[in-house]
Amino acid sequence: MTFTAEEIRKNYEGFSNEKLMRIATENAGTLSPEVVSILKDELRKRHLIDEHIERSIAIQAKELTEQELEAFINLIETLPCPICSTTSQRLNLSSVFSVTSFIIITQFKGKNVIACPDCLVKSLRRADTSTFLLGLWGIPWGVIRSVKALVNNSISRKRVHQRSPLMKEFVKLKKGEIERWKNDSTNLLNLIKKNNEYVG
Ligand SMILES: [Zn+2]
Repeated sequence: MTFTAEEIRKNYEGFSNEKLMRIATENAGTLSPEVVSILKDELRKRHLIDEHIERSIAIQAKELTEQELEAFINLIETLPCPICSTTSQRLNLSSVFSVTSFIIITQFKGKNVIACPDCLVKSLRRADTSTFLLGLWGIPWGVIRSVKALVNNSISRKRVHQRSPLMKEFVKLKKGEIERWKNDSTNLLNLIKKNNEYVG
């Protein structure tokens, strides 16, 4: 289904401020230039646009250069740990897997946690304990998937001090929000906390 510019404008007029800001900082990269200018008009009308939002919208329309990627990763790595608040270690990312078996189905869950290496190790251990208690008894899938989760977590545990390649993917995915908050560590930290709560 395609909409006319007028229909899109009407739609945007009906959105809440929060929804418009979310579109501007998280989804602007998926919009055509015409829709982006409708979005900006609506933000301007509500006095919601500033240079950070402008830059956030602009950066979503392009690929980040290696230097920009590195600068964004550095911003994330040097935040205080979202779990224990330490600033003495650079943050990293680990994929943490756990398995829960029910009577007939088995659930394999994974999430990408960003934290200091010590907290990553603790998260991985906690996930392993949960898998031992709740996942391993399911036959056969509980056992098969639990072994997979435990092996993956064990590999991740050995790598908590080496930057994960997924850190690059994370900043690419969140570039609009990182650009918006790059001078505001409180909101950058909130972004990380929100990411850590997400269970895929
Ligand atoms: Zn920590």
